Amino acid sequence: MNKELFEAELNKLNITLTEKQKKDLDIYANFLQEYNTHTNLTSITNIDDIYLKHFYDSITIIKAIDLSSINTLLDIGTGAGFPGMVIKIIYPNINVTLLDSNNKKINFLKELSNKLNIQVNLVHDRAENFINNNRESYDVVVSRAVAQLNILLELAIPFLKVGSFFIAMKSHAVEEIDSSTSALNKLNSSIEDIIKLELPVEESKRTLIKIKKNDKTDLKYPRIYDKIKKQHL
Ligand code: SAM
Repeated sequence: MNKELFEAELNKLNITLTEKQKKDLDIYANFLQEYNTHTNLTSITNIDDIYLKHFYDSITIIKAIDLSSINTLLDIGTGAGFPGMVIKIIYPNINVTLLDSNNKKINFLKELSNKLNIQVNLVHDRAENFINNNRESYDVVVSRAVAQLNILLELAIPFLKVGSFFIAMKSHAVEEIDSSTSALNKLNSSIEDIIKLELPVEESKRTLIKIKKNDKTDLKYPRIYDKIKKQHL
């Protein structure tokens, strides 16, 4: 997807990029490509693919949630900034926290945010540890390609304010959704919507799962990662 097509597809989502946003995304794509030659951050390295599979894919989240009126957003397992950094560039008023357990990803994001002069909260930590001072404090939590849904729910839901939404960005997700009923119940949350879409150009399938937190989370969640993984809720 070249830049012109990217901008046209964003227009269809009612997003018109400013010149600064276009420039920031251009710097982001080139810096990611260059950084990736010495530090492995992503398998997607061609500029057109970065625009399609990272930038456009990240922003499809607005099909699940209106980001224009929220204050705080957490991206769990952001990697090289997807979707959280793209959201920050397009919605600069949101206070965005990018969390990853891998410090080389956080170091890349530090250099990138300095280059772009963009203020994001960069956190090198695991979600299970970062929860300690951040329970029930975000308007929206997002996560793309980090873990299967019944694991991800236990990591994500505790961070949300009651009444707020977690958006899990997936490719295929039917089985994962089916095996998450018990976790949803134990975490006082429910599926509000499942949005299926196809990326332009290559038509690969994506699923956005929108989950609402209905009530406070028991303080025993999240458990340590070993338990989360071995004994699904
Ligand atoms: N979200 C990015 C994307 O879609 O391109 C990165 C996806 S990558 C496959 C998964 C990332 O999640 C890795 O960078 C990994 O370090 C991070 N991660 C996995 N488990 C985590 C946890 N419990 N807490 C924080 N980060 C985690």
